[in-house]
Amino acid sequence: MKREVKVAIIGAGSAGLYALSQVRKETDDYLLINSGPYGTTCARVGCMPSKSLIRIAEYYHDRLNFEKSGIKHSDALEVSIPDVLQRVRDHRDLLVKENINHSIARLGDKVLAGKAQFLDANTLKVNNDEIRAEKIIIATGSSPIFDPAWETFKEHILTTDELFEQKDLPPTLGVLGLGVAGLELGQALARLGIKITAVHSKEFIGGLSDPDVNKVMIELCKKEFDIWLGARAQLSKVGDKIKIKSAEREILVDKVLVSIGRKPNVDALKLENLGIVLDKRGMPNFNPQTMQIEDLPIYIAGDANGNRPLLHEAADEGRIAGYNVVHPQKTFKRKVPMGVVFTDPNIAFVGKDYKEIKDDDNVLTGSYSFHNQGRAILMNKNAGIANLYVQKSDGKLLGAQIAVPGGEHLAHHIAWTMEQGLSVYDMMKLPFYHPTFEEGLYMLLRDCMKKLGIKKEGIVEIPFSESGDNNQY
Ligand SMILES: Cc1cc2nc3c(=O)[nH]c(=O)nc-3n(C[C@H](O)[C@H](O)[C@H](O)COP(=O)(O)OP(=O)(O)OC[C@H]3O[C@@H](n4cnc5c(N)ncnc54)[C@H](O)[C@@H]3O)c2cc1C
Repeated sequence: MKREVKVAIIGAGSAGLYALSQVRKETDDYLLINSGPYGTTCARVGCMPSKSLIRIAEYYHDRLNFEKSGIKHSDALEVSIPDVLQRVRDHRDLLVKENINHSIARLGDKVLAGKAQFLDANTLKVNNDEIRAEKIIIATGSSPIFDPAWETFKEHILTTDELFEQKDLPPTLGVLGLGVAGLELGQALARLGIKITAVHSKEFIGGLSDPDVNKVMIELCKKEFDIWLGARAQLSKVGDKIKIKSAEREILVDKVLVSIGRKPNVDALKLENLGIVLDKRGMPNFNPQTMQIEDLPIYIAGDANGNRPLLHEAADEGRIAGYNVVHPQKTFKRKVPMGVVFTDPNIAFVGKDYKEIKDDDNVLTGSYSFHNQGRAILMNKNAGIANLYVQKSDGKLLGAQIAVPGGEHLAHHIAWTMEQGLSVYDMMKLPFYHPTFEEGLYMLLRDCMKKLGIKKEGIVEIPFSESGDNNQY
């Protein structure tokens, strides 16, 4: 069957659906093509089930503070992993159902199930159909990287696509890769009583690049589970176990959670039929402010372009692409980059990466350890460090890497400040409530002020106690 539409969107994930929200404002002449399950990676196997699991693990971990807080018999508490996983799936099902009910169900025959591939820049093949579209948006997401060498023992290998589907988990798990997902899930599973051995080929974990923050985070995580850094791991099957070998070390585990990164889903699209140069990963050139691929009538948004593989970025990129396919093209300003790793303490990154500023003479780093932070002490969470990168000439915030309690919120404060082009001085003028984690941010700003060594004209700082938090006498 041949079909002609104004806009075809490939992928009914978050980027595709946000694109669709823009397209539908202008036209009914569209087609949403999707292979695989509906409900989005975020809700099905990504952000949401992982955060559900992390929350349950945190509840259980809190028991370690019960006895000293006067709550007795915490040693009688136990975890039922099958029930934990069911709870995670219940959360997931609710969110997936919401998503499908709100977005997919009402689209009727404007949704086509099948894998799309390009015949040329305006033509797609889906199943046996040929779709001609004036404009096409690629929003095909990404998939966990899986080494074909593991195929022979794949029943022992879990990726994040399978983890939350498990009915139970074994007593020992290897975690391969301590990037964002591996670190979040490794810590959560360790807290649920599974013996975790995590192997990471690099020396930096959780996506960090600031050595101070990385060091603190490694020390904290090592208290909870085994971490082997700096060498790649080889997996092999030994009896009914998997042997992980890395440099001089080896261990037998029941299963391995593989979290060594994700790969954009572009292979099946046959981008080679577009007549453009693809890089060595098979990726096309695109403009991150318009989402357009070269000068083709094709746009690429979300994890599919491999640029900023995060949910809020997929949403923004979907909106940009969706807007541009139904309007004269605009170039959009991208927001300050921000990422959060939902470990305890939360890791977060905002703005410029440490590697971008480390050799810049016009940048200083303010630092604050949450070891003695008032609210953190009361919450039994007094650990972690925050580093803020500030422009010496005018005190403007350039970026931050933090691993602190409440880091998800502090990251927002910093990102929002940066988005508005504000400086350390501007932030110091804002109110800070007591006792809050935000007072830790105040201390961080205070350290920046000291290192800047200048007072901005016209700003008189309210005198500050050196001994503790912002609002302490
Ligand atoms: C464990 C985990 C935790 C995460 N946690 C967070 C978090 O806390 N915060 C955060 O911001 N981000 C998080 N992410 C990342 C976030 O989930 C992704 O950035 C986001 O879901 C990407 O959305 P997308 O629309 O690009 O892709 P998807 O939602 O994957 O949508 C792509 C769709 O395209 C379909 N498709 C693929 N190929 C084709 C084809 N050829 N033809 C037709 N259809 C096709 C797919 O089947 C899929 O339905 C996490 C990810 C994981 C895996």
